[in-house]
Order: sequence, then C-alpha cells, then structure tokens
Amino acid sequence: MATPDSKHILTTTLAFASPAIAVLAVLVGVGALAVGPAIVAGLVVLALVALFAARPLGRLRQLQNRIEEMIAGGVSQTPDGAGEALTDPGGGAIGDLAAAFQRLERNWSRDRKALTDGLGAAATLFDALPDPLVTLDRQSRLVYANAAARTLLADGRPEDDVRSRDLSAVLRQPLVLEAVAEVLGGAATRAVEFTLTDRVDQTFEARVEAIAGADVGDDDAVALLLLRDVTAQRQSEQSRADFVANVSHELRTPLTSLIGFIETLREAAKDDADARDRFLTLMATQSDRMARLVDDLLSLSRIEMNEHTLPEGAVDLHSVMGTVTDLLAPQAHQRNIAIETQLDSVTGPVAGDTDELIQLFQNLIENAIKYAREGTVVRIAADSTADTATISVIDQGDGIGREHLARLTERFYRIDTARSRELGGTGLGLAIVKHIVNRHRGTLKIDSELGKGSTFAVTLQRHRPS
Ligand code: ADP
Repeated sequence: MATPDSKHILTTTLAFASPAIAVLAVLVGVGALAVGPAIVAGLVVLALVALFAARPLGRLRQLQNRIEEMIAGGVSQTPDGAGEALTDPGGGAIGDLAAAFQRLERNWSRDRKALTDGLGAAATLFDALPDPLVTLDRQSRLVYANAAARTLLADGRPEDDVRSRDLSAVLRQPLVLEAVAEVLGGAATRAVEFTLTDRVDQTFEARVEAIAGADVGDDDAVALLLLRDVTAQRQSEQSRADFVANVSHELRTPLTSLIGFIETLREAAKDDADARDRFLTLMATQSDRMARLVDDLLSLSRIEMNEHTLPEGAVDLHSVMGTVTDLLAPQAHQRNIAIETQLDSVTGPVAGDTDELIQLFQNLIENAIKYAREGTVVRIAADSTADTATISVIDQGDGIGREHLARLTERFYRIDTARSRELGGTGLGLAIVKHIVNRHRGTLKIDSELGKGSTFAVTLQRHRPS
C-alpha cells in the first residue's frame, strides 16, 4: 500500500517531470526522436526528478511533523530548553522556512514555560490561602479548588477527584447555591452567610464573584466562590452582646429596688421612722450589691487587659493565704466554718502578682465558705513539684453537677442564680479566677461530687530568680 510519503513523491515527481515528458512527446510526434529512446529518456527524467524531490519533501515532512507536535501541545526539547534541531534543515527556501520555524518554536516554548511556571506558582499561592476558594464553570461545576476548599468540601481529596463535580454535591447550602445561580445568571457579586453543623458549628461568609472574560468554553471558570470562616468573629460579637445584656440586667435589678425605696421614702414612709430605717438598710444592701458588681467588672477588665503579659514578681503563698483567711474570718465565723490551712509542702515563692493572687484565692475560699454546709471545714491543701505549686480549696458543700463544670468560669454563669444573689454573688468570681490563672500561665481544675463537696485546684509556676 502506498504511504502518504510515497504518494507525495509520486505526485510531485509527475508534476515536475511533466514539462520534460511533454517535450519528449512532441519530439516523438514530429519524428525527431524514436519512441524507444524517448521512453528511456522519459524514465531517466522521472528517476532524476524523483531523486531530487525526495530530500526537500522529506524536510517538509519533518517540519510538518514538528508543527503537528506543537499543535498537540508538546515540543521536542533539548536540556537547555531550546527546541531540538531539525535533523536536516538544509539550505534554500525550505532551509529559511525551517530556521524561521525553529525561532517560532523557541519563542513558543519559552512563553509556554513561563505560563506553566506562572500557573504552578498561582496554584501554590492559592493552596497556601487559609480560606477555601473554588472556581466554577457555567454549569456550576468545580473547575478548581484550593487545598483549604478540598479539605472542607471533599475531605482533602486530590484536585483531580474534585474537578467537574457539581457544587451542590459538595456544599448543600441553598443560600450559597442560590447566590451562585444569580452570579451565573449575570449578577456581578453576591455575599451570603451560612453555618455548617457537621462537626462543630462553623459559620462562613461566602462571596461569589463573576470572573470577567469573553468567549469562554463550557468547562472554563466563570465564577469564583470564596469562603471565610467567621465563627470566632460571630461568637465574640455574640458574647459581647450577651455580656452587655447581662451587665444591664444585673445592674437594673438593684437599681429598680433602689428607685422603689426612694419613692416609698418620699411618700408612704415619709413620716415613719421605723420604716425609714428598714428601707435604708435594704437600700444599703442593694447599693453594696451594685458596688460589688462594678468592682468585679473593673477587676475583670483590668486583668483581661494585662492577660498577655506574664507577671514576674515572686509571691509568697503563705502570706497570701494569711491575708485571705484573715479577710474572710468573719464570714467563716458567721457560718460556723473552720478554715484549715496546710501549706507545708510549699517552700519557695511562685511567679505572679500578689494582689491578683490574693483576689484569686479570696474568690475561691469565699465561694467555699458560701456554698459549704454550715459547721463544716474548708481545707486549703498544697502539693509541689520542682516547677509548680498546686493549691486546692476543698469544701464540704452540695457539690456541682457534671453538666455545669465546663461552663462554671463563664461570666454570669450560675447554677442557682437566686441563691447566688442571696449570698451576695455577682456571678463573676470564677471568671476573674480563670483570667488570673490564664495570665499566670497556670491551670484551674475543678472536681466535684454531688452531696459531698468540691475541690478547686490552682497550679502556678514556681518563681525562678533570673
Ligand atoms: P457567684 O458570685 O455566683 O458565686 P462565681 O463565678 O464565683 O459566682 O461562681 C459561679 C457559680 O458557681 C456560683 O453561682 C455557684 O453556683 C457555683 N459555685 C462556685 N463555687 C462553688 C462551690 N464551692 N460549691 C458549689 N458551687 C459553687
């Protein structure tokens, strides 16, 4: 069977030889040449033309192959990155054409390398982004997903597994899908918020933007979806709002009673000395409560402000505990509670701020006195290692249910709000304790058994003289 090359040689040979063969035919026709020699001459012409046409045709064929290769996306490369030289470029017009082609091939190969490098760098950059980012085609199928998006939407599967999947198959969020549909339908940009509840609740802000570009194919990216994790931001906004609402509520209650008492003193009890004394006592209780709340709020904000600076003083826990037990002796006496302190194992100072540690142990021991059963013992025990000192405040109270333990140090979290208020609590004591412990890079451990009592253990770092 004739190959394309031999067909080319045959047709080219016939085309080039045809004038000479025509001349031979005329010579035979006019009787100037015998048929036999004319045939021999014709065959010689054909053979010579075929011989001369073969090489340029081969060179053209080589060029054609290289062009086909380029179209298919590959370039024969030498190690220095230039295109591989043609085996037989030759001279003349075909040689010039081959040289021009080689220049074109070199430029094309350089541009292609720059483009591939650029794309590689862009992919590395997008993968380094902490926020999930995907691009979508007209049918809302994934064209590209960066590493964060693959982790969030496809359990970290490789890019090839994710490509071409429908967005709705990996992110079942109607609000996002609607926003994407609107952008695919011509809108420039859309932003929505959604919450993933799969594992822990995570809130994301999704931004969908159209990618500008004309004449895109069906598989090309036309929209970009960027997800930003706003969970921490929303939580902090919510806790700030809750805090303001709590503070307002805590202040409002005593304030309302004060306003009521003032009103009564002005009118009904104006001339009643006994009632006046009674009301003034109640008013003093309410204003004390407000003052305590404001004091606790100020302490909390002061400690929070300094939370990131480690206190460097050397604090003697024996003297701290002496101050605290002296301060709380009247309260303990009132409830017939004995405070037993056993700090022998604490030999050296701990690193910290004396005033804050006084406040910390005052809050813990005051709680122990408040929530212990009357007539019981509050024990203060110690345990030391080479690096730490642990002080435990142990009471014999009603104990705390397991479900409350994790939330106990939240601001205003109380197990029994009415009882806490009755005992003069602000609901901020343990929040202050937690912040002081954090500032001291220590730990707070709460153990409790219902009906038996609770243990609040604080571990602090020993002071190292520098
Ligand atoms: P409060 O001012 O209400 O005492 P805290 O922040 O000091 O606020 O404590 C929060 C809540 O933790 C209290 O309302 C109380 O319900 C509980 N609690 C704290 N200490 C103890 C304890 N030793 N025994 C039992 N419950 C306690």
